[in-house]
Amino acid sequence: MTKIALFSSKSYDKEYFERFKPQSEIEIRYFKSALNEDTTELAKGYDVVCVFVNDQINQTVLTYLKNHGTRLIALRCAGFNNVDLEAAKDLGIKVVRVPAYSPSAVAEHAMALILTLNRKTHKAYNRVREGNFSLERLTGFNIHQKTIGVIGTGKIGKAFCEICLGFGAKVMAYDLYPDSNLEEKGVLYSSIDELFRQSDIISLHCPLNSDTKHMINKDAFKVMKDGVMIINTSRGALVDTKAAIKALKKHKLGYLGIDVYEQEENLFFHDHSESIIEDELIMRLISFPNVLITSHQAFFTHEALEQITTTTYENITDFAEGNELKNEVKSEN
Ligand code: NAD
Repeated sequence: MTKIALFSSKSYDKEYFERFKPQSEIEIRYFKSALNEDTTELAKGYDVVCVFVNDQINQTVLTYLKNHGTRLIALRCAGFNNVDLEAAKDLGIKVVRVPAYSPSAVAEHAMALILTLNRKTHKAYNRVREGNFSLERLTGFNIHQKTIGVIGTGKIGKAFCEICLGFGAKVMAYDLYPDSNLEEKGVLYSSIDELFRQSDIISLHCPLNSDTKHMINKDAFKVMKDGVMIINTSRGALVDTKAAIKALKKHKLGYLGIDVYEQEENLFFHDHSESIIEDELIMRLISFPNVLITSHQAFFTHEALEQITTTTYENITDFAEGNELKNEVKSEN
């Protein structure tokens, strides 16, 4: 019997994990709380700990898990910046992830943010409901023939480039490993500075690591076009939020669409509508008319939830049966 403690559990996690439960001997306990130093005791005695983007799996948490029977961390996401891989390696705990769960879901959400910010459909919806049929201040711009800069052209970035090409945009890209297939389709790879200089819209699709943290900072804004649109559906800390707020105040940053936020752990995925929100930065961002925030929902489609669930079960079954872990993530050191 494999015992799984599933953290940060929501109704949809339980629905999909129960629906796709394999025949093999598996017992799952669903915990609504996130996994962090305050909640590790809940995982006592579970072979597998199943976590999501805002669980904090640092050295202290991993040491507790190791001492209380956990042998596998199964991430229900692609990004693994919230796991101390070095500590996991030292402690002999394996880490697996879901490398791809509908890249189109995230790419399509990035385009949804662009279209909403640009054509202001969220404002039009509210206006019309109140009997206001005026077009004043709803002017947008054509995406056709604009330059869209894509940073990171892996699975999601590639799907996003293809959507942008479909709109007739000029697509520039920056990646450590350019994709020749995208180049054949007309994507132009350049230096990151050239991409910053030429793009009307910049969309982030690279992972968060020590090289990419705050890649969108005050120096980057200096190079960009006035009124640039930035879209972040990757990880919050790619953008220096304080620098973005300054750029918004100076009208340098014309539009900001974010599905991720650097201090999202204590906010996203929860209803705070009856609370006093103490995070001053997010409240300032919310106050701008040209900022659109969604709370890490880019992945959230039926197709992606099914993929996350089935791949997580495959990862856990492979581990339980001693098979090769094809979706293992390891420390590079
Ligand atoms: P991927 O690994 O397929 O692609 C990442 C790409 O980024 C690769 O091509 C890689 O070469 C490139 N890259 C790495 N370092 C770079 C750097 N310093 N500069 C430029 N490019 C760099 O990953 P993916 O599946 O496309 O996912 C991308 C990111 O999207 C993930 O890291 C994750 O953080 C995020 N994500 C968000 C959601 C959401 O719901 N908002 C869902 C899934 C993934």
